[in-house]
Amino acid sequence: MKYDRILIRYGELSTKGKNRKKFVDKLRNSIADALSSFSGIKIDGQRDRMYVVLNGNEADAVVHSLKNIFGIQSFSPAIKVERDLEVLKDAALELVTSIYKDGNTFKVSARRSDKTFSLDTNELNHFFGSHILKNIPGIKVDVKNPDITLQVEVRSEAVYLSSENFAGAGGLPTGASGKAVLMLSGGLDSPVAGYLSMKRGLELEGVHFFSPPFTSERAKQKVVDIGNVLASMNGRFVLHIVPFTEIQQLIHKQIPENYTMTATRRLMLRITDEIRRRQEALAIITGESVGQVASQTLESMYAINAVTSTPIIRPLVTSDKGDIVDIAKQIGTYDISIRPYEDCCTVFVPASPKTKPKKEKVEFYESFVDFEPMIKEAVDKVETIILTGKQENNSLMDSLF
Ligand code: ATP
Ligand code: MG
Repeated sequence: MKYDRILIRYGELSTKGKNRKKFVDKLRNSIADALSSFSGIKIDGQRDRMYVVLNGNEADAVVHSLKNIFGIQSFSPAIKVERDLEVLKDAALELVTSIYKDGNTFKVSARRSDKTFSLDTNELNHFFGSHILKNIPGIKVDVKNPDITLQVEVRSEAVYLSSENFAGAGGLPTGASGKAVLMLSGGLDSPVAGYLSMKRGLELEGVHFFSPPFTSERAKQKVVDIGNVLASMNGRFVLHIVPFTEIQQLIHKQIPENYTMTATRRLMLRITDEIRRRQEALAIITGESVGQVASQTLESMYAINAVTSTPIIRPLVTSDKGDIVDIAKQIGTYDISIRPYEDCCTVFVPASPKTKPKKEKVEFYESFVDFEPMIKEAVDKVETIILTGKQENNSLMDSLF
């Protein structure tokens, strides 16, 4: 029995009232992107579910490509059958026969969303159950823990038969919640923060600070590789690489050493905020987690955060490191993040950074330098790379700003 479509259930997004059309459109786009290498596939998006019509493509290959798409709660390979009981009972028997192995048990799980259909749920279960029992020698019913569950769903246009449910990636479709910029280091935390934000429907662009020759090309490559992992989750990831050497050198010349870390973070945030503004995004995402390092005490966060009123979303703020590591392993960024090359924050880290910096003090120290033209210059010199998840297709955009 060959499945002719995949039935996709939305879960959370189907509860979103009048925004639903937008959610369905975004999900359809994500699915179309993920399945672009298959020819002839048709996507039929409805209010409460979606069908991927296979048009001869193998269900297994398509199932594989649907597993990582945000906004899908679960999905099932299915067969569409006309609402004729004779045709239906043959199709159901053929489906169960094709997956039946000696000794298997089964049950029928019918749903009738069209109440005008001639049989109700119980009658449907009985109708299909008895036909299968009669025609497959040795098969038995087990309603508690069956090997095979024949799902029968009666709708107004047709009946859908399926036997397997796959878990989707959950969350909301990419872009359904708007756009944000992600401060992306080569470390463990920020890629995980990015993944969790994408899962909630945010479209992300990455911002990475790079200080050659103090940080190496291999440190930059780490971030590009992480960006490609994020791109593979939704087809594309735009990465802005900010040249940061001159600003870092100036900070180290002008700011007392124990305040350099605080001032550096404040400038990173100001530059990120300017890129955010130019890219028309509405929030900044970071991988900060309270108490992890000197820059992540509440006092530090307060002094650093003071440079902007833009919402800063910290998905990991209360997460333990072990939990973050688990997610990094699961999404495939862990092995890249643990490569030993240092980023700009590690290279310039002072011997004893202030763990309780005062906002007034850092503002006072910064007041002797006009950073504004340097911020503008850094943003103007940003190198923007569009990552596609496949290294060879990455393209450089140098005239974005
Ligand atoms: P991560 O594991 O994400 O590197 P961390 O535990 O090393 O985080 P910090 O170095 O204090 O912590 O960085 C805190 C956050 O600041 C990072 O999660 C990231 O969002 C941002 N950040 C740090 N370094 C950079 C960088 N070079 N470019 C862009 N953002 C950065
Ligand atoms: Mg780091």
